[in-house]
Amino acid sequence: MKYAESIVDLVGNTPLVRLNRVTDGIRATVLAKVEYLNPGGSVKDRIAARILDAAEASGELKPGGTIVEPTSGNTGVGLALIAQQRGYRCIFVVPDKVGEEKRNVLTAYGAEVVVTPTSVAPESPESYYSVSDRLAAEIPGAFKPNQYFNQNGPLSHYETTGPEIWNDTEGKLTHFVAGVGTGGTITGTGRFLREASNGTVRIIGADPEGSVYSGGTGRPYLVEGVGEDMWPGAYDPGVVHEVIAVSDAESFAMTRRLALEEGLLVGGSSGMAVVAALKAAESLGEDDVVVVLLPDGGRGYLAKIFNDSWMRSHGFIDHAAGERTVGDVI
Ligand code: PMP
Repeated sequence: MKYAESIVDLVGNTPLVRLNRVTDGIRATVLAKVEYLNPGGSVKDRIAARILDAAEASGELKPGGTIVEPTSGNTGVGLALIAQQRGYRCIFVVPDKVGEEKRNVLTAYGAEVVVTPTSVAPESPESYYSVSDRLAAEIPGAFKPNQYFNQNGPLSHYETTGPEIWNDTEGKLTHFVAGVGTGGTITGTGRFLREASNGTVRIIGADPEGSVYSGGTGRPYLVEGVGEDMWPGAYDPGVVHEVIAVSDAESFAMTRRLALEEGLLVGGSSGMAVVAALKAAESLGEDDVVVVLLPDGGRGYLAKIFNDSWMRSHGFIDHAAGERTVGDVI
């Protein structure tokens, strides 16, 4: 009989699929690594597993302990899933701007969610940061994964994502492209691929226009999960050869094309990474192999990127210009 002992054993080993239509005019092979096929639906399952393994090994997390983290997104889902399987309590602190659907995913896995006001300064005792620090200090046996600084995040990618890509491409990849949020994915995967290839693989970051990684100050952008207004410890800029800035409009247009033309229903940061990959691939030849990582699926964005009125209200689609939209009959 072929089966996994637990859902946790199914984290990682995601496939590569070739992009065939959005790559029109490009000679290089462009392969997407499909991270939404992880059990919790995103690349973040990988770091959750590694961070909890390390905390157990170091004694920071003991049987029956409580995990406290300020997160509303994919990291919360990964932690909730693994914590549940191992009998830990999980408390996530989320700002009230985070939609009910996202909170419900966390509670569905058995996590507790504490909602804090969005419109307060970070140093206020009511803020997302202050409340999670206080809970971590007050609850006996609490452990705070601190994904922006925890080195087990990049390490999980050094140990799994990097080797998977190297093995699946039989060492033939020439470029690796990933969006940068905490920086863990690009740092760990990039470090492994540079070492494995003796420095020949080029590591390219994709960043929302305005974020610090591509020289901005943190100006707001709408693509979720990537970009920063500070420099997290999970990111090592020394691993990355180049960072390409991508606008929200380009990211969301590509996200829609990936669903419509490649059958890949993915999130906005995936569209962003593909835009950067295609920009990098423009000047490449047919022997080049570009791998681009797609961090999560598109179901969490149906009311935004895949909703015409939301897209129109932000100026991302323009019917007058003849742009095709999701509901169009053609
Ligand atoms: N895209 C999405 C949707 C994410 O949730 C994240 C994680 N913040 C990323 C991209 C970026 O990954 P990393 O934090 O490893 O840089």
